[in-house]
Formats: sequence, C-alpha cells, structure tokens
Amino acid sequence: MARYTGPSCRLCRREGQKLFLKGDRCYSDKCALNRRQSAPGQHGARRGKLSGYGTQLREKQKVKRFYGVLETQFRTTYDRAEKMKGITGENLLQLLELRLDNVVFRLGFANSRKEARQMVTHGHFTLNGHKADIPSMTLAIGDVIALKDKSKSSEKFKALAESARTTPKWVDVDFEKMEGKITALPVRDDIDLPIEEHLIVELYSK
Ligand code: SF4
Repeated sequence: MARYTGPSCRLCRREGQKLFLKGDRCYSDKCALNRRQSAPGQHGARRGKLSGYGTQLREKQKVKRFYGVLETQFRTTYDRAEKMKGITGENLLQLLELRLDNVVFRLGFANSRKEARQMVTHGHFTLNGHKADIPSMTLAIGDVIALKDKSKSSEKFKALAESARTTPKWVDVDFEKMEGKITALPVRDDIDLPIEEHLIVELYSK
C-alpha cells in the first residue's frame, strides 16, 4: 500500500496553500506556510504564471494531497467516478470523502487524514463489527465505524473523545461510544475544501 512519506509541509508549499495535513499544528503559528510561502526547491521562489494545463495539473495534485492518495489510486477512483451516474467531478469528490480514512477524520476520531490513515492501518477501528484496516475502503450509507474496545483506554482517543468537534451532516457520531454512522452520501455542498474539480475532469479528458 503505497503512500507519500516525505515532509507534509513541503506539499503545502508546493501548492501554495494550507492542505491541513498535520492536525492542530496547521491551525497554529507553527504552520510552515506562515514562515515561508515559496515553493520548495532551488527555484521555488520563481513561481511563474501557470498555463491552462499547469492549472489543471496543480488542482489534481492538490486534491490528491488533501486526501493522501497517490496517482494510480487517484486515477482508479476517477475512472470509477466517470462510470457513475451524475457529474464526474462531484462523483470523484464523493468517492474520496467515503474513503475509510477520510470518514474517520470527518468523524473527529483523528486530527488529520494522515493520522486517520495511520490509525486505520494500525487496526484501531471496526466497520460494521468487523476488522477494517484498509484506508482506501469505500464506505456506504448505513456503515458503522467504531473504535475497538481495547483502543478506548488509550490516552490519545480519550483526548479526542473529549475534544469532540463539528462533524458533517452526512454522518452521526456518538463520542461517548466513539462510534459513527454514515447517514447520507456527501454531496458537493457538504465538502468544504477549496477544490475546482472541473479542472481535474478537463485534465483527464485530454
Ligand atoms: Fe501544511 Fe499543516 Fe504544514 Fe501548515 S502545518 S504547511 S497547513 S501541513
């Protein structure tokens, strides 16, 4: 299961905006973008005007980085979105939102998608009562995600339960039980990320 293992803040500097990959740090003064806005690398300070293709490419890279997905898996997800009824760009975002690691993050059980992915691969959660340790699993309406009993005593999860946060309207969460359920499919208005998904569709349609 391939994943990006380099520095997270470098990705934000590359995209020129916060991707919120490090949880609480991203909301603090310690955010690397507060100190240095230039793109990484020797010529990073020379960020020029992007061509049409460049704009589309950067949008795709940004979305991949928001959700922590590498190219092959992203392309597979796009192909699935294309075959679904409806608007391809919106289908793509819906599929990305329904990934198990993203749902764990959206439920407030992790501070970032990256942390959620790690928690999932470490086997802290169950899906409908069964083991679930594959971050890319696509969930559906009615699915119940729960923290395993033996993980509930961990200080980390206790702190997360106490810092219960706002969750999207397509999930129901019980922070006492550390359990969440998908009650609807996320639609475009539910997704609060600054994404112009039509640019990705244009890129892949070339
Ligand atoms: Fe991005 Fe967070 Fe690093 Fe800021 S602290 S640059 S938002 S990963």
